[in-house]
Amino acid sequence: MVEAVEVRKRYHGTDVLRGVKTSVAAGRVLCIIGPSGSGKSTFLRCINHLEPIDGGQLLVDGEPMGYERRGDRLYEVGARKVSRQRSEIGMVFQHFELFAHMTALENVSLAPRLVRGRDRGRVEHDAHELLASVGLADKARAYPSQLSGGQQQRVAIARAMAMHPKLMLFDEPTSALDPELVGEVLGVIRRLADSGMTMVIVTHEMDFARQIGDEVAMFDEGRIIEQGPAEQVLGSPTQARTQAFLERSA
Ligand code: ATP
Ligand code: MG
Repeated sequence: MVEAVEVRKRYHGTDVLRGVKTSVAAGRVLCIIGPSGSGKSTFLRCINHLEPIDGGQLLVDGEPMGYERRGDRLYEVGARKVSRQRSEIGMVFQHFELFAHMTALENVSLAPRLVRGRDRGRVEHDAHELLASVGLADKARAYPSQLSGGQQQRVAIARAMAMHPKLMLFDEPTSALDPELVGEVLGVIRRLADSGMTMVIVTHEMDFARQIGDEVAMFDEGRIIEQGPAEQVLGSPTQARTQAFLERSA
């Protein structure tokens, strides 16, 4: 589903991604860990082409993000095609970034109505089902300011799911939450994993990564220095830097 080959990204002459290589098969969950500034968020943003890459290749479901193949050459595609590619990838950020002036239901309904142009009744029916699936059936009419952080994040997850994405990206979905609200959000993500959704999750929750991640990738200085089964990377890492990082995060 995701194939990254020697992915490079540079900001103002500084190499932020220095040859990232990884792959995530359909239906699998990859958890990304690593120190602050190591490029984890940048990599997620490259996957859905919020950031163009400067080198290497990034394929989602066999398609190069931001490009199309004609013969054996790649051509950059226009904004419309990029937004179509991107609409198949759901993304959830640390700060929920809901639209404050819209209800939970309107937040979840917006993209399918705008991007897919589907009729209101159908979209709202779907949105109600999605809100119910994240345990918020009774909050459809609530505005973000009337919801807890955990509830807002669950609305954000429902919103990302509304486009029926084939891939979900999470960037530290629980790190802005009060500890007692973390569990409900992780529970929703766990159910998504159980339903077979392909996911890439940047997280600082090592226990969660161990439980939900089929694989764990350790980022350090713009590279994946170690990737393997969650149990192995988190339990008996081969790299000293992974070991030191895990000790610090324990
Ligand atoms: P954290 O755990 O703190 O979220 P991270 O691993 O997600 O860190 P990134 O946000 O990917 O790290 O940042 C990697 C590096 O790229 C950092 O040095 C950061 O300052 C730099 N960087 C990120 N985005 C930009 C940008 N838009 N312009 C310039 N530099 C950037
Ligand atoms: Mg980050």
